[in-house]
Amino acid sequence: MLSFRCDKGRVDVHEAWTTAEAKATLERMLADWEHKLPQSRDARVVIKPNLNNDLVALSGNCVDLRVLAGIVEGLQRRGYRDITIADGSNVGVERRDISTFRRLRVQGLAGRYGVKTVDLNRDTGTVVVLHEGAHPQVATTVMEAEFLISVPKIKTHAEAGLSCAMKNWVGIACGQDKRHMHFDLGRNIFAINEVVVPDLVIVDGLVGMEGNGPGDGEPFRLGRLMVSDNAFLNDLVACRLVDMPHAEVPYLVHAFAAGHLDAALAGRVASELPVIRPIKKAPPRSRLAELSEARSLLWLKKAVRPIVSQPKVAELAYKAKIIQDVYALEDDTLRLVGRDKTRCGSCARCVDFCPTGLGLDEIGVKTSSPECVQCLYCWWVCPEGALVLEGEANAMQRQVDRYKSEVERL
Ligand code: SF4
Ligand code: SF4
Repeated sequence: MLSFRCDKGRVDVHEAWTTAEAKATLERMLADWEHKLPQSRDARVVIKPNLNNDLVALSGNCVDLRVLAGIVEGLQRRGYRDITIADGSNVGVERRDISTFRRLRVQGLAGRYGVKTVDLNRDTGTVVVLHEGAHPQVATTVMEAEFLISVPKIKTHAEAGLSCAMKNWVGIACGQDKRHMHFDLGRNIFAINEVVVPDLVIVDGLVGMEGNGPGDGEPFRLGRLMVSDNAFLNDLVACRLVDMPHAEVPYLVHAFAAGHLDAALAGRVASELPVIRPIKKAPPRSRLAELSEARSLLWLKKAVRPIVSQPKVAELAYKAKIIQDVYALEDDTLRLVGRDKTRCGSCARCVDFCPTGLGLDEIGVKTSSPECVQCLYCWWVCPEGALVLEGEANAMQRQVDRYKSEVERL
């Protein structure tokens, strides 16, 4: 384990890759940080993962169910009874009424543990005043949490440089109010982190995303979990681990300017912590992509939305690198129904990725809740095509075409 401590807080970095390693590490983290956890076992604990899109976690985009499962198990082992998993996905997902909780199987996982889910996009909120006229509502579930755990990813972000704990807070703004954050993204990400402060940050750095993130990058194996009590410091350390210059991350620039971080601290981080794995940065955004986010052209964007939302037009915009996300409305109906033993080479990769901890003799055999949450991670990673699915891919087909072979190589 690596650990960095200063008067601003502490960040621990652990190595982990498989389900067993991730869960053992999360248990150790909670034990090490027990003093931070609430005294009352009835405290309202809110876990805010990054579920910004409907892309399977193994693409590097969203929080891994293995991490969510490990956190919930650790909290329940300690007797916490009021646990909620809450997030609000990005505005494109929200506008189309897509449920990432359903598509990412978070609902199934929550059901297995008997914890609540809240779509923050549909929550009531409190207006917070940020910069450049931004005044988003921040979800009540977050504002009223008695213990707030931020669970970000580590991924590149074409506009924000890197997405980790501070960027994860865009998801606490309700519904289309997230658009306000883009009035000045770096400054407003920084500002919302001053208004709402997580009690604990637990970073899912198992599979990261690099290149054209956050919606169209490449997954890479980082194999780390981080825990911290300071989102600013956490993100400075995250930059170091993946060799991302913090000066290229606009919200961190604001954190430095406001005195949450300073050059001496950055020097200590660089000298005391190693680079684990350099990340491939996001390519420069095209002029058209930048224009598509311009606040002054928001009216035009709304006017052409019915045309741009057409699948063929969206595909053209994706190919022209104007957008990263192309959404289909129909959820998949895929289900794991078996394992073809004639194809299975007993490599046990499926076991390493099963969030509920099923063994090789159980994967493809126990296919109902609560043992199996139908996340299909086993199928995503199986290099032999030995896991048998039934149902229609629908919206998932696009990400299967885009990511299946990359996930198999993780
Ligand atoms: S990943 Fe595929 S080949 Fe490997 S043990 Fe699992 S089912 Fe068999
Ligand atoms: S058996 Fe496969 S589909 Fe079921 S929970 Fe485990 S990884 Fe997910």
